[in-house]
Amino acid sequence: MNAPLAPWASDPRRSRGRRIAEPPSPPRTEHQRDRDRIVHSNAFRRLVYKTQVFINHEGDLFRTRLTHSLEVAQLGRSVARALGLNEDLVEAIALAHDLGHTPFGHAGQDALQACMAEHGGFEHNLQSLRVVDRLEARYAGFDGLNLSFETREGILKHCSRRHAERLLADEPDGPAWRFVNGGSPSLEAQLVNVADELAYSAHDADDGVRSGLVTVEQLLAVPLLARHHAAVQAAHAGLDPRRVLHETLRRMLSEQIGDLVEQTRAACETAAAAAGGALDADDVRRQAPLVGLSPALREQTLALKRFLFQHLYRHPQVVHRTGLARQVLSELFQAYRQAPTEMSPDYARPSQDPVRTVADYVAGMTDRFALREHHRLTGQRLLDL
Ligand code: MG
Repeated sequence: MNAPLAPWASDPRRSRGRRIAEPPSPPRTEHQRDRDRIVHSNAFRRLVYKTQVFINHEGDLFRTRLTHSLEVAQLGRSVARALGLNEDLVEAIALAHDLGHTPFGHAGQDALQACMAEHGGFEHNLQSLRVVDRLEARYAGFDGLNLSFETREGILKHCSRRHAERLLADEPDGPAWRFVNGGSPSLEAQLVNVADELAYSAHDADDGVRSGLVTVEQLLAVPLLARHHAAVQAAHAGLDPRRVLHETLRRMLSEQIGDLVEQTRAACETAAAAAGGALDADDVRRQAPLVGLSPALREQTLALKRFLFQHLYRHPQVVHRTGLARQVLSELFQAYRQAPTEMSPDYARPSQDPVRTVADYVAGMTDRFALREHHRLTGQRLLDL
């Protein structure tokens, strides 16, 4: 049973609707329906074979984009429930937030950005919106998934002004509006952004240790982890190190979630009082973000992110592999540009924007499909399958 919605939550009965009007689908709300469409999409299934940090085949226990998205949805829903926000909308945004990610994580994104620099650029948030607005080809009446405004707003987390202006020309009151005119997205979208950061900071620390690229001793340079680690060891002498790490991360996440709930509740109540007692989902969009950690915990969490950046994402082994992944994607892009008929039939058809079509094709690939295609087209094996 869902708790009653807070006055500032996104009420599905007051959705701004879909680009193409559709009759309702009771008993589902509009945002439950969005979530269902996302789960049934091709792009969602591909997330299981896309890299988060570690390339998919490096080990079965590392997070993939799919398990990452599920963790973001889980954290986001817990907080939404505690705050009376729209859990279904949070879940829909969380499950869709990485649909536009290329194979090989950020390495793939960097490669496509470089390939597309002279052809309108490539941004993964924009690509996620493009997947749900245009690229999914499943429904009789429209391209894409025809999601509600609120879900699309949450998916478009960042957008450069140049792209926002182009999107607005097509849809003047669409989700790009705030990137030109200012303002914030719904609280549910703000929450997914924070849940994303909390989820990956915790799970990348875990995967980093599992991979052997960072040690627990190194992680203890991060005060937030050191504090919880010391508490776990004091409470459970002799516990095996793997469990100590899990317990440390679990306690860290609990602290962050508790803080996030309290801080956000207070921020919403303060904003409501300042607005004369009434604050609704549209008022939220006219002010600075209200969802966030307290300043002290935010600073401690940032220190963990900085640590991961320095010691994991920039680890020589990761950098070496991401260099190869970049090469795979750039060479694939060039190969399809020269021979578009090498793409699958849906993409090989003549297109109004053939370069964008290649980017869409490459961006949609799983890690393993990209490697297979690269081997087929170049004869090289840069990364083992
Ligand atoms: Mg993410």
